[in-house]
Amino acid sequence: MNLARHVARNAKAYPDAPALAVGPRVVATWREMETHVARLAGGLRMTLGLAPGECVALIMRNCPEYAEVLYACWHAGLTAVPINAKLHPKELAFIVDHSQARVVFATPDLAQAVNEAVADAGARARVIVIGTPEHRALAGADPIAIARVEPDDLAWLFYTSGTTGRPKGAMLSHRNELAMTTSYFIDIDPAQPGGAIVHAAPMSHGSGVYMIPSVAQGNCQVIPESDHFDAGEVLGLLDHWRHVSMFAAPTMINRMAQHPRAASAKLENLRVVVWGGAPMYVADLEAAIAKFGYRFAQLYGQGESPMTITGMTRALVEDAHRRRDMDRLASAGLPQTVVEVKVADAEDRELPVGEVGEILVRGDSVMRGYWRNEKASAETLRGGWLHTGDLGSFDASGYLTLRDRSKDMVISGGSNIYPREIEEVLLRHPDVAEASVIGVPDPQWGEAVVAYVVARPGATLDIKALDALCLDNIARFKRPKAYREIDALPKSAYGKILKTELRARYAKESG
Ligand code: AMP
Repeated sequence: MNLARHVARNAKAYPDAPALAVGPRVVATWREMETHVARLAGGLRMTLGLAPGECVALIMRNCPEYAEVLYACWHAGLTAVPINAKLHPKELAFIVDHSQARVVFATPDLAQAVNEAVADAGARARVIVIGTPEHRALAGADPIAIARVEPDDLAWLFYTSGTTGRPKGAMLSHRNELAMTTSYFIDIDPAQPGGAIVHAAPMSHGSGVYMIPSVAQGNCQVIPESDHFDAGEVLGLLDHWRHVSMFAAPTMINRMAQHPRAASAKLENLRVVVWGGAPMYVADLEAAIAKFGYRFAQLYGQGESPMTITGMTRALVEDAHRRRDMDRLASAGLPQTVVEVKVADAEDRELPVGEVGEILVRGDSVMRGYWRNEKASAETLRGGWLHTGDLGSFDASGYLTLRDRSKDMVISGGSNIYPREIEEVLLRHPDVAEASVIGVPDPQWGEAVVAYVVARPGATLDIKALDALCLDNIARFKRPKAYREIDALPKSAYGKILKTELRARYAKESG
């Protein structure tokens, strides 16, 4: 089943309903989008002569054409390679070269950087800039029929953020994306035709993957007018669209909850905000629920099993919150329907309830492997299980609690310390806006815990009070040995806190 069939079906079922919009303005109906997609697919296959399975890269900021290029790739039986537009030109060059993309679509703002990256890579890829006569000619080609694909044919090469070493391209097939879509409607949020999704996060990553279930249910793809995340603008879009869903990294939710517009936003139009990609601290979740009500669902996934490891529906979040079950609120929810999830020791033996180990996943959403990287594929998929690199434990009710990435765990005096536990406590203090805990080399203990803390505007941090809070809530050996106040935490383009940068900063500061 080719994912492009969803667009074709919508064009028949709701031809005049909005498919693509910029802010409040509709720019294409489903009938129009299908025509654009079928023509662009024709341009790629017939005019440019691409063969089935070849790669097409997208280095584009969020825009309606993003959706059209993606679906045109699938319609044509090609593999899309969405690349984070904020990467360094050297990283762009690496991915263009490594993916062997034949064509790279770029938005005009990125044209120069993309041309330079392609030249640097010595790649033979052809760059097509959106809106140029070349793009218009391709988009006006004769339409072709939807290509027949096999379930394991590739749809998306998902390049990981590469915080450790070179980025790796997770090979996601049509089967993977369809399994993910099925699970989304069962485990995260039931289908709601007639709604809209606001793409407030990059479409090369989080928000782009959400596009697939959203298109499957015929929702309009709404691209905010500004090309960066603006909490006020996103809240303002609730005046124009109904049954709105969106993906948001926890930091984005915090910004929306703190925005003055939150008080007057038309919340009846906000169906669900799904958070994922990083832990949502309980204190922040409570603040967001207080502002927006029970409109939050969670999912835990990674590029290698996109959107699909565990999750919590709005109802599950609401139930835990009403019962004041903080452990459950801090959990990542239940295994999703299409996957098996287990917590295992270093030899992949399943661990009993309560014990912390690596999270392993098996099922139809799990990638086929890494593109052109057999060693990493064999290592990550050994024994038929995806090794996520995340640590966690199950409770007796089957809820998974994520601890940290294994590389972020701190080992001090022989004991494992999970930074998130300490961060959750620090964030309960009213003067703390953000906190991130790392392990630093320590001659006596191997590693020591250090907390980087951002104060709320106008507040002065009282380290003694923070220490007392830790002593009240967690074992003595886990409390930070040092605190560092910082203006803002370093974050990736996806809003993830970059602990590697904090560790480097600490090393520099300590000489
Ligand atoms: P990526 O492949 O870039 O999407 O990053 C996936 C990683 O983000 C996972 O392996 C987790 O470490 C983290 N992550 C994703 N979802 C969640 C979540 N709901 N809670 C905590 N961490 C998450």
